[in-house]
Amino acid sequence: MKVVDMHCDTMAEIWYGLREGRPISLLKNNLHIDLGKMKKGDYLLQNFAMFVNLGRDMDSLESVLQLIDVFYQEIEKYPEQIGVVKTYSDMEKNMAAGRMSAMLTVEEGGVCKGNPAYLRDLYRLGVRMMTLTWNFENELAFPNDVPGDTCQVFPFFPNKEKGLKKKGLVFLEEMERLGIIVDVSHLSDAGFYDVYRNTKKPFVASHSNARALCGHCRNLTDDMIRKLAERGGVTGLNYCASFLTERIAIDDICKSTVELIAKQARHLANTGGMACVGLGSDFDGILGELELSDCSKLPLLEAELRKQGFHESEIEAIFYKNVLRVYKELL
Ligand SMILES: [Zn+2]
Repeated sequence: MKVVDMHCDTMAEIWYGLREGRPISLLKNNLHIDLGKMKKGDYLLQNFAMFVNLGRDMDSLESVLQLIDVFYQEIEKYPEQIGVVKTYSDMEKNMAAGRMSAMLTVEEGGVCKGNPAYLRDLYRLGVRMMTLTWNFENELAFPNDVPGDTCQVFPFFPNKEKGLKKKGLVFLEEMERLGIIVDVSHLSDAGFYDVYRNTKKPFVASHSNARALCGHCRNLTDDMIRKLAERGGVTGLNYCASFLTERIAIDDICKSTVELIAKQARHLANTGGMACVGLGSDFDGILGELELSDCSKLPLLEAELRKQGFHESEIEAIFYKNVLRVYKELL
């Protein structure tokens, strides 16, 4: 089964490795994602997020520019295996040539420092999707408050008051005009509704699950799922245990299983329709034990979806067709 994944943090891991003097190759490594494992997992397209941590990294714009360089350096080393896509037809060309595809995305709208000129520059460099925030307030918007790092405490208190700032609204318009897909993962609840009210095109939550099954504020409420779906958007199933189930808070069982992921898929489909469900692994950005221990293991999820009663055409929709529909429309 072909795979299209809307989010991973692999490039940030490779970049951190470089900075610490331990080079990591995209071809073969110990991370969740490398080209060999992608091939084994039957990948069609992977979004590579340029993840910038405003609390840890150097200057945010400098960071994203370095990350983009790492992205191109790595992808361009293996032209037989993978190619960068900026348009839908680039992906079709890669497919015809038997190559996988890589899409450049940014996780932290703050890298633009509130200046649309830098947003346009990122577009020119190939960025085609961007989260407005990560877990920090920036010039554009407020995130949902995410306390701590790995051991989160339920219940969460999502931010329903503070959404997009004036510059965030300017960015939304410019992103839609350019063709940079708006990604609401990490954004506050208020911000989600600001995006919904102030955009016309489909938008995505690249790596978020359903809050009804797991009350983490990184997940979407049923109302948000319906609104995202109504607009033609997709949410990418996140494999992180913290976003799959609240059980980890109770039992301290920190394991992500394909059963839990499939249950999330079922809830998303029951709430927003089958067309709003996609994949957004968050590989190389998540901790804890994963049944999908790397990206070659996707057939385990395929089998579990089948076991839980999803039809073949529905599994295809979740694995790649829904996201490709959005890309075809917007890129
Ligand atoms: Zn994230």
